[in-house]
Amino acid sequence: MSFRAVRSRAPRGESVSRNLLFQHKHNVTYTVPKLKDFSPEALDKAAEKLLASLEKEAAEVKSESDWKVFRDRWIARKNGILAQVNDQWLKAAPKESKRDVGQRVNDLKSKVEQTVEASQNPDKRGPAGRAKTRSAAPSRAVAEVSDACLDITLPGVRRSIGAEHPIIRAMNEMVAVFRNLGYSVQEGPEIETDYYNFEALNFPPNHPARDMQDTLFIANQESKPLRERLLLRTHTSPVQIRTMEKMKPPIRIVIPGKVHRNDPPDASHSPMFHQIEGLAVDTNITFGDLKGTLDHAMKAFFGSSVKTSFRPSFFPFTEPSAEMMVSCFICGGSGRRGSEPCRPCKQTGWIEILGCGMVDPNVFEFVKNNGYDSRKLSGFAFGMGPDRIALLKYGLDDLQVFFQNDVRFLRQFA
Ligand SMILES: [Zn+2]
Repeated sequence: MSFRAVRSRAPRGESVSRNLLFQHKHNVTYTVPKLKDFSPEALDKAAEKLLASLEKEAAEVKSESDWKVFRDRWIARKNGILAQVNDQWLKAAPKESKRDVGQRVNDLKSKVEQTVEASQNPDKRGPAGRAKTRSAAPSRAVAEVSDACLDITLPGVRRSIGAEHPIIRAMNEMVAVFRNLGYSVQEGPEIETDYYNFEALNFPPNHPARDMQDTLFIANQESKPLRERLLLRTHTSPVQIRTMEKMKPPIRIVIPGKVHRNDPPDASHSPMFHQIEGLAVDTNITFGDLKGTLDHAMKAFFGSSVKTSFRPSFFPFTEPSAEMMVSCFICGGSGRRGSEPCRPCKQTGWIEILGCGMVDPNVFEFVKNNGYDSRKLSGFAFGMGPDRIALLKYGLDDLQVFFQNDVRFLRQFA
């Protein structure tokens, strides 16, 4: 399921003030100008100015926290400089220059992203750079070693043993809860067809709910019919259809996996993230089963004292649909931690944790030839974001730490 609403958003006010702080500290003043002239010469000039400021700011990045602010200032989805360029240059361009401006904006986008990526981890730039050159030239490294005085009696280099990544750990724990309820684990391809990702899940072509998904399509497929075009799956839900095609009812499955959306990385977004979803189909499955199952699962995962609460929502493949909240397991539902307000639950005492609902009978229509008769069967489905759950569970405030593969961070979970 595509539980977009469930994913957290960075607090706007905070990123704006951090941005101002960065500007002040590093004396940078670049703001995206509104363009009146869209001639190639004027565009070149504007791009040149933007890139010069980018380079200047990148050179100012001295620490991990500088880098995060720099990253958010340039590529945050909301109000980052790239987003402003998109709004103020591309969207404002007159019709006849749209194509030209579009190409230039794409070009700027990839340059900015490359620079942001390259300026990461300033603390490690020096030695890491050297280490890389050496491993890139193994024959020279060997020569250096044999030239040096080699003492074979010295103890060897101990290789550290890997540990479970915190996201994988959270996923495995959640999957284990459902396994104990008799659910089996199913997986599917990350490169999907439009049919499985959208159409068979009750998103017909031009359905407005498709706009909720910033889909990454594989290029150059215009000649194919829409339903055969390939894309990176935006949710794990295609596996529901794939499983119902090969397994007759009744079924109880849980589906963990990676999904992709066109979201630039920031504190609460990543172009690659994880989902876990579940599906139960049988005769006489009711909303009461859904509530009982999920309430049990949350107590098993977060502790027996958490409460759950449901409120109505919308997803194309379930009807009715709901969002489920759990009482905040950080402040115990009080909204406060001592004298401080509880940030993870925004002082409400509740945390949105998943989306769910009763399977829309239209979805069964796509698999009716395998015994899924919507007049005889019913089912429920749910989906959640283990990345966000891991963030909450480990008290972190930046999603990117999970994907930077900084061993100093990961070692804490070993
Ligand atoms: Zn709280």
